[in-house]
Amino acid sequence: MTQLSGELAPYAAHEEQTKGRRYQEPAAPYRGEYQRDRDRIVHCTAFRRLVYKTQVFVNHEGDLYRTRLTHSLEVAQIARTVARALRLNEDLVEAISLAHDLGHTPFGHAGQDALNGCMGEFGGFEHNLQSLRVVDELEAKYADFPGLNLTFETREGILKHCSARNAQGLGELGERFLERRQPALEAQIANIADAIAYNNHDMDDGFRAGILSLDELRQQALFNEQYLAVHERYPELEDRRLIYEIIRRIINKVVTDLIDNTTRRLESLAPDSIEDIRAQRDVVVVLSEPVYEEHTALKQFLNKHLYRHQKVREMTDRSKGMIEVLFERYMSDPGRMPAEFCLSATAHDANESTKARVIADYVAGMTDRFAIAEHDHVN
Ligand code: MG
Repeated sequence: MTQLSGELAPYAAHEEQTKGRRYQEPAAPYRGEYQRDRDRIVHCTAFRRLVYKTQVFVNHEGDLYRTRLTHSLEVAQIARTVARALRLNEDLVEAISLAHDLGHTPFGHAGQDALNGCMGEFGGFEHNLQSLRVVDELEAKYADFPGLNLTFETREGILKHCSARNAQGLGELGERFLERRQPALEAQIANIADAIAYNNHDMDDGFRAGILSLDELRQQALFNEQYLAVHERYPELEDRRLIYEIIRRIINKVVTDLIDNTTRRLESLAPDSIEDIRAQRDVVVVLSEPVYEEHTALKQFLNKHLYRHQKVREMTDRSKGMIEVLFERYMSDPGRMPAEFCLSATAHDANESTKARVIADYVAGMTDRFAIAEHDHVN
């Protein structure tokens, strides 16, 4: 059930103060504006495709690993917990969380790097900006407007970071990157919930894949602290349950710290409104210093021992070549793409840069398995 506005903190995103949608629409009779955003995201094509997109492990490597879809659901779960505890808008954090990875290419970060390389002369490719492009332009579902026509606050939350050059072309949405202001607290929560989710589920997936051992994980302070507590109480616990029990305790510790520390910060800042939040020079939703350091150390550990591990790189490096082959094929023969992409790429006013962007949109939208099939097909 939607929270009533009266229950929200004064500095939460209150939907009656929304900066609105790009194309005006009448209000829905029984749903709030952010609920409606969330529903549009769940019904969109890009959201369904997340189930076949790599988070860390290429989708067909195993059925038990996280995909972009399950990752996004875990982000939403953590973000909603924090939002409710801080009396912020749960519908908005959920909408942002579910949409935050819509712009990801197939094959995770390897795919993004490959496509960014292909787009080097044409303005580059950045998955975060692409997520916004998906909801603003690429989803073609509604008769009256392009994209999903989401509210400003959801779009503000989706665009986590942005270069100054890209920000200049984004109007009001880009201003905060040029003026160093913050987004709403709901956006800040979704952003940190993303990091909490992947840090934790990647330990689990890395252990399951046999890449991270218990001894390696125990080098991490956050992990070892919970390991000792669980091991003392349940010395006979088998590894799978042990890992899960440790990880759920880590999530609990980090989320509790985030709520407590942010509560203290809000008490000292005493903001009156969402605009007071936006005017801050620094992020308000932050972990306490010691937990922040442990959390960052864990992120660096995963970077080194999981994301750059030989086994993970072998999976993703193979896919880099596929993205490059596909991109070049469509550049030289746009007719290999579906009609609507081909038409945009070859319109009489389309230059090389427009054509490349259409191709990047098409390739980025692919699932892992579709990209593999297309690659094998064009060869
Ligand atoms: Mg994410």
